[in-house]
Amino acid sequence: MIKSVKIRLIPTKEQEILMFKSCGIARFTWNWALSKSEDDYKNGIKFNKVRLRTEFNQFKLQKEYCWIKEISGKVTAQIFEDLDIAYKRFFKRLSKKPKFKTKKKSRQSFYVRYDAIKFKDGKVNMEKIGKVKYKTNYKIPTLLKYINPRCHFDGKYWYLTFGFERNENQVELNQDLSIGIDLGVKDLAVINCLDKPIKNINKSKKVRKLNKKLKRLQRQVSRKYEANREGKKYNKTNNIIKLEKKIKLINRKLTNIRQNHIHQATNKIVKLKPYRVVMEDLNISGMMKNRHLSKAIQEQKFYEFIRQMKYKCQFDGIEFIQVDRYYPSSKTCSCCGHIKKDLKLSDRVYVCKQCGCIIDRDKNASINLGNYKLA
Ligand SMILES: [Zn+2]
Repeated sequence: MIKSVKIRLIPTKEQEILMFKSCGIARFTWNWALSKSEDDYKNGIKFNKVRLRTEFNQFKLQKEYCWIKEISGKVTAQIFEDLDIAYKRFFKRLSKKPKFKTKKKSRQSFYVRYDAIKFKDGKVNMEKIGKVKYKTNYKIPTLLKYINPRCHFDGKYWYLTFGFERNENQVELNQDLSIGIDLGVKDLAVINCLDKPIKNINKSKKVRKLNKKLKRLQRQVSRKYEANREGKKYNKTNNIIKLEKKIKLINRKLTNIRQNHIHQATNKIVKLKPYRVVMEDLNISGMMKNRHLSKAIQEQKFYEFIRQMKYKCQFDGIEFIQVDRYYPSSKTCSCCGHIKKDLKLSDRVYVCKQCGCIIDRDKNASINLGNYKLA
């Protein structure tokens, strides 16, 4: 099983310059490779990562591109692997067509040569960058093969992420406890065996305050853009740059708060040591088409919740089941099994005509999920 780890880096000024350079060259190479392969495609030439990489190695020999050599060759070599994966996913209809990367919108990141990585005395060795100080509470195992190491900048700090092979935890599970989880918009999750739901963090004071601040800044920026406009040209003043930086940092903070919340929630569930966890296989892409729901779902990070639940279960040997979305988890009475066909989305309380049971709609669904029997 692969465990992935993220640690914060504390580079020196010189190291940071090289790291930004690596991000820039990675983006440049990606765009070069993408535009080349699109041209090739128009001329009936199929994408081939090896041929393209060879072409790039020729290209970068030109004098005016000598700056590419200032960083590790593995950074650019990896781009062709990444593009190959992106195309394969696109052809399998798993993701959208690979896009060009812009300085503003794309994640600033680059690949780090895996076999050069070494952790020693609180520093990690990165090829061509040197020994970079890092900070983590996690005990990093040494003398292992680190898988797919990447370095990225989130607008404030630098991070190194990597994976490594790890054995499952030996956890004694409660063979009587099957946990059902109902994800929702009102609360993040309702759990069959817990009295209180896991709250929707976006409704907390802290997040609402940050959101308000964000909206105010966004309005300010657009007003400033409008005020400094010359015809069709939008000018970036120092004030605008300052405001945009502030916006970026608030967005970063929001992302961290949401991510943290999900980690706490999934940890709490795994700590109950159930022998299995049952969730609905949500039709998220269908729900995303509903404009009212899509924002709430995006902010609640349902995908991320499911992803974390899955791997944390795997680590502890807990069975993870996703029930297909036609399973009537909401319509069934968790008391007597009666199915209420005319249950509306607006019915927040489930009232059973058969046995008289009255129960919160989401609680009812979570109990049904927990009781799910494999067909
Ligand atoms: Zn009933």
